[in-house]
Amino acid sequence: MVGATTLLPCDVAARLARLIAALRRPAAPGDAGGRGDGTPPVVLDALLVTRLPNIRYLTGFTGSAALLLVRADGSTTFVSDGRYAGQAAEQLGAAGVDAAIEIRTAADEQLDVIAAALVGDACLGLEEHGLTWAQARQYSARFDPVECVPAGSMVEDLRRVKDAGEVDRIRAACAIADDAFAELLPRLAEGVTERAFALELEFAMRRRGASAVSFDPIIASGPNAAKPHARPGDRVIEPGELVVCDFGCIVDGYCSDMTRTVSVGEPAPDARRLYDLVLTAQAAGRAAVRSGADVVAVDGACRDIITAAGYGDAFSHGTGHGVGIEIHEAPRVARTASGTLRVGDIVTVEPGVYLPGVGGVRIEDTVLVTADGYEPLTMTPKTLVV
Ligand code: ZN
Ligand code: ZN
Repeated sequence: MVGATTLLPCDVAARLARLIAALRRPAAPGDAGGRGDGTPPVVLDALLVTRLPNIRYLTGFTGSAALLLVRADGSTTFVSDGRYAGQAAEQLGAAGVDAAIEIRTAADEQLDVIAAALVGDACLGLEEHGLTWAQARQYSARFDPVECVPAGSMVEDLRRVKDAGEVDRIRAACAIADDAFAELLPRLAEGVTERAFALELEFAMRRRGASAVSFDPIIASGPNAAKPHARPGDRVIEPGELVVCDFGCIVDGYCSDMTRTVSVGEPAPDARRLYDLVLTAQAAGRAAVRSGADVVAVDGACRDIITAAGYGDAFSHGTGHGVGIEIHEAPRVARTASGTLRVGDIVTVEPGVYLPGVGGVRIEDTVLVTADGYEPLTMTPKTLVV
C-alpha cells in the first residue's frame, strides 16, 4: 500500500521560481514569446497559466477551476471560485507557494482581478495549447492595452524533467500496476471477459493505493488486439490468443503506463514470431535511450527492426511519450517529433505491430532517462506465455 506520506516530498515552490527565471530570460527564436511563424520573440511581462495540470505543477492546487498569473517581477496571483477558497489556501500554503489568493465566483470578476494585476505590463503570454479561440479573443479584449501573445509551452517544458519527488510518485504508480497485474494474471485462464479483466485490474490498483486509473485500461484479445486503442468488450479471452494489456494508475497526481502482451498457453507460431519481433524492437528502443539521444533516433531504433521484418506499415504510432501529471506529455518520441532526451525525462518505449483481422502485439515500458542510459520503472517480466 502506497500512501502520500511515504513518498519523497515535491519542491513545488521551486518550480514557480524556475518559471519566473524563464520569464526574465530573453527568449530565443522558437521559444516562449516566439509565435512559431518566424516573427521575432518578445519579452513577456507575465504569463497567464490556464491549463490545470500546469497550475497543479506550479502551486499544488488540485481543484477543477483556477487561473494563475505569474509576472516577471515575481508577483503571483492565483484566482479560483468560492468552492475552492479553503482548499486553495490549504494546498498553496502546504506547498509554500508565495501567491496572492483571490476568490471570485463570477468569471468576469476573475478577469478583473487579472487585469488589475497587469497594470504597467505591456505583454502577456497566453498558454497557446490551453485556450480556445474564443478565450484568446476575450482575454485580448479584456486586458487591452496589454498585448496578449502566444507563449508556447513554457510550463510543459519545465515539467519534462522530473524531480526526486515526482520520480518517486511515478515509480510508486508503476509498482502498483506491476503488482496488480501479477495478482490478476491467473484470472486470464479462467474464461474472463476483457471488460471484467479491465475492471478487476482497476480495482486491484486502487486497492493498493492508486487514486484512479491514468487512462481506461486497454484489454484487447484475439482480433481486437489489432486495434491499438481498443476498448475492452464482452469478448471472452481464449487460450492461445494474444492479449494486449495497456494500463496504468495515478499516485498523488502522477501517472504510470505499461503494456504487456500475453497468451494463455502457447500461441500459434506466427503469433510467437510477431511477439519476438516486437520484443526485439522494444529492447533496441530502450537501448537507444540516454540523455542527448535524438527522439527520432530512439523511434528509429524500434521502427527499423520492424520495417526490416516487413511490418513497417503495421507499426502505426510513435514509439513513446513523456509521462507525468498527464499520461501523455512532453517529450514525444516519434518520427514526427524533434529534440533530444534529457536526464530526468520519463518516457515510454512502446513499439507495436497490428494486423487487422489477425491480432497485434505491443510492449511498453516507462523509463527514467539517465546520463548514460535509462532506469526502468515498469518491472513486469516480458513473458509471453502465462
Ligand atoms: Zn500505455
Ligand atoms: Zn503509452
